[in-house]
Amino acid sequence: MRKKIVAGNWKMNMTSDEATNLVNALKADLGNFREVEVVVCPPFTVLGVVSDLVHGTHIDLGAQNMHWEKSGAYTGEISAGMLRELYCHYVILGHSERRQYFGETDEIVNRKTRAALAASLHPIVCVGETLAEREAGQVDAVITRQVKGALAGLSAKELLDSVIAYEPVWAIGTGKTASSEQAQEVHALIRKLLAEMYDETVAGGVRIQYGGSVKPGNAKELFGMPDIDGGLIGGAALDAKSFIDIVRAAV
Ligand code: PEP
Repeated sequence: MRKKIVAGNWKMNMTSDEATNLVNALKADLGNFREVEVVVCPPFTVLGVVSDLVHGTHIDLGAQNMHWEKSGAYTGEISAGMLRELYCHYVILGHSERRQYFGETDEIVNRKTRAALAASLHPIVCVGETLAEREAGQVDAVITRQVKGALAGLSAKELLDSVIAYEPVWAIGTGKTASSEQAQEVHALIRKLLAEMYDETVAGGVRIQYGGSVKPGNAKELFGMPDIDGGLIGGAALDAKSFIDIVRAAV
């Protein structure tokens, strides 16, 4: 039985004070909540603050990006070991905004994924097609390329330590959500691919989140689909009540 996982991607938002208020509100409601795995992914600047606040609760800490090397001359970058030092358990990798604005390729996402796993971080590996790709009938081809590329060389254990997030690019921050059927179709495709790459048992154990304009009003239906194991939440994760409602919709 896969435990649902809901992660909040705060992106480039939240000062220290704002983060403290948000996390305190989340803690008051979800601090002892065990039915769903809850993760918050603040920007690097407040990881330390949030790490202290969630210590001893059931809220896990994640980062939004990292470099694949352990250390060295990579100005502006952060390593997996540095994230571990702040008690991060998760790291979002290959988000479409990283692919679109920072040129991240499947190969880069793969390097980062392997580096995260080597440092005992759980990667949340994002995949998803653009609107043009969907309209051109390329969803299967794009998702297959991204999944195989990002996960190349992972052992079954490493795959099971990873989370995949299906995030159609056209649904991110746009208010347009994939219908639960559209999302389920791609989640099932990803699981079938994993079964071909590994086996049915391994594929059946991997958690696949949906992301793209998830809100309290659509979360329950999306999370009710057989292959959707929770969500990666952007905008709605910045508001305590919305995020709490979405987490509770995953029960
Ligand atoms: C995201 O950026 O991962 C995301 C899903 O954003 P939003 O929920 O705002 O669409």
